[in-house]
Amino acid sequence: MMKVVIVGGVAGGAGTAARLRRNDEQAEIIMLERGSYISYANCGLPYYIGGVITEKEALQLQTPESFGTRFHVDVRTMSEVAAVDTARKCVVVKHGGETYEESYDKLVLSPGAGPVRPGIPGMEKNHVFTLRNIPDTYAIHDYVTEHNPVSCAVIGAGFIGLEMAENLAEQGLKVSVVEGASHVMPPIDMDMAHGVHNYIRSKGIDLYLGQTCTAMDGSGVILKNGAKVPADMVIMSIGVRPDTGFLKDSGIELGARGEIIVNTYMETSAADVYALGDAVSVEHVVSGQKVLIPLASPANKQGRIVGDNLCGKKTAYKGSQGTSVMKFFDMTVAVTGEKEESLKAQGRPYRKAITTSASQAGYYPGGDMMTIKTLFDPETAVILGAQIVGGKGVDKRIDDLANAVRFKLTGYDLQEMELAYAPPFSSAKDPVNMAGYVIGNIMDGLMRPFYLEDLDQIPEDAIRLDVRTEGEYAGGTIPGFINIPLDSLRDRMGELDLSKDIYITCQIGLRGYIAQRILDQAGARTWNMSGGYRFYEMKVRDEQSQAAGMGLCTACGMEKAALWK
Ligand code: FAD
Repeated sequence: MMKVVIVGGVAGGAGTAARLRRNDEQAEIIMLERGSYISYANCGLPYYIGGVITEKEALQLQTPESFGTRFHVDVRTMSEVAAVDTARKCVVVKHGGETYEESYDKLVLSPGAGPVRPGIPGMEKNHVFTLRNIPDTYAIHDYVTEHNPVSCAVIGAGFIGLEMAENLAEQGLKVSVVEGASHVMPPIDMDMAHGVHNYIRSKGIDLYLGQTCTAMDGSGVILKNGAKVPADMVIMSIGVRPDTGFLKDSGIELGARGEIIVNTYMETSAADVYALGDAVSVEHVVSGQKVLIPLASPANKQGRIVGDNLCGKKTAYKGSQGTSVMKFFDMTVAVTGEKEESLKAQGRPYRKAITTSASQAGYYPGGDMMTIKTLFDPETAVILGAQIVGGKGVDKRIDDLANAVRFKLTGYDLQEMELAYAPPFSSAKDPVNMAGYVIGNIMDGLMRPFYLEDLDQIPEDAIRLDVRTEGEYAGGTIPGFINIPLDSLRDRMGELDLSKDIYITCQIGLRGYIAQRILDQAGARTWNMSGGYRFYEMKVRDEQSQAAGMGLCTACGMEKAALWK
């Protein structure tokens, strides 16, 4: 009878135990968990704090007792593994005041990753929280309900930071978000983040970008630039680090960030020791580089694989791609694959398309607009990554694009996808099909795009042409662009010197493309702005807000800032 010891009782650990039991009714399975809860819903924790989830029990998918009974697993909570001896094949367990050894035939490590909590001068004077597990959640929830804090600073604007910002704002707190990088949400690019920044501010949340917290006192946090942000409580959400301190002397190979090194079968460098979840590095599906992607879907998939491989199978984990989605009030932000900033850093050639589509048929009420940025290989049109910012329907499209990345589909394949359509859900040409058409047009040379960052490089003597209506043009344009509305372009073509390069914009890039086809067929040489004026305006508004004092933009009211709608 095989004896398997599992360290960690949540996503990866509990998943492994359940699969293993389904494979092997005889195995002895011991699951050691440092905390008092197992198999809980980490991803749901912010929503308990925000009052969306009201029942404590709802966060616990299984109790130690229910899991132990159903899967016949010896679940030991409050049991911390302090060391692993791979030569003697045993772990050292601390439980209460006692320490004991537990032997194993096979060992599974799924200890996850813990929040980074740097020492900041004065932090003991404020109420500083991190969020990883159920006790952390109750601590934040109880502090808010018992002490009625007025303000909160969220340090770090990744997924967890922004989810916390939303949920605390929903509780009536005045929330400030402080982010050390130039934009929120590391998995997206700066150009896509502008719209998110504007929306964050429109929710009355102050946003401090490019700022770190250098000190704290009882009434707030002090930023690098000396500004003080009021805060009766602080959420630290600046990232996570593999929780692998107990493996330091085990001889199991760890990487520079403490991550456990595994092969494609999730085997560590030590015989009969497997590892998975947030604590391991895996191959990125696009770059092939070893990366840390702390997400629930990879951890759960790996749990199933480890549960099989423990029983003699040789199933490979084929890598992660960082597919993720976040709700922020009515906005949805989603990503998959590589972002442009990473492709640049890797020196990998790419091209990109910025498309804007409605979530559903234009005539069906209640739709939202979404901006899709798709990155693709310049030679083959294989999709390398995608980011979407919008409202309804973003989740549906990112999953199509995630499959495109995973299975190395091209922009032409996106054109062929037959996707579910009825007016409340989509258009007959789905936003993903549209991204494919634009990529095809770029690949085939029918559309020569230019981008936000090219605006400053347009040659002095080139013509800058805005083909929106006179009314739209009067509401604002890119400096230097003249107006000839698309529908009068054929009649007024004589006003343009077709021997000059022509840079075209419209609202989202569609009318610009039609203008481009008209002018190109008349012998002109044209470029069409990907994303159009809408994308440009998001950037300008964001930059104006930052210039106006880094914090909340009083100039952009709800109506304007909700431009993504
Ligand atoms: P964990 O689930 O963290 O489990 C590790 C367990 O091991 C912990 O309970 C820990 O106490 C225990 N442990 C650690 N060391 C020891 C030791 N020495 N001895 C005994 N026990 C030990 N992912 C998404 O994909 N989507 C989301 O929306 C999302 N939202 C999230 C929201 C929050 C607030 C958090 C914290 C995470 C979120 N995640 C989300 C990430 C997701 O929860 C993790 O990727 C996933 O839980 C990783 O599983 P794991 O088994 O590797 O680690």
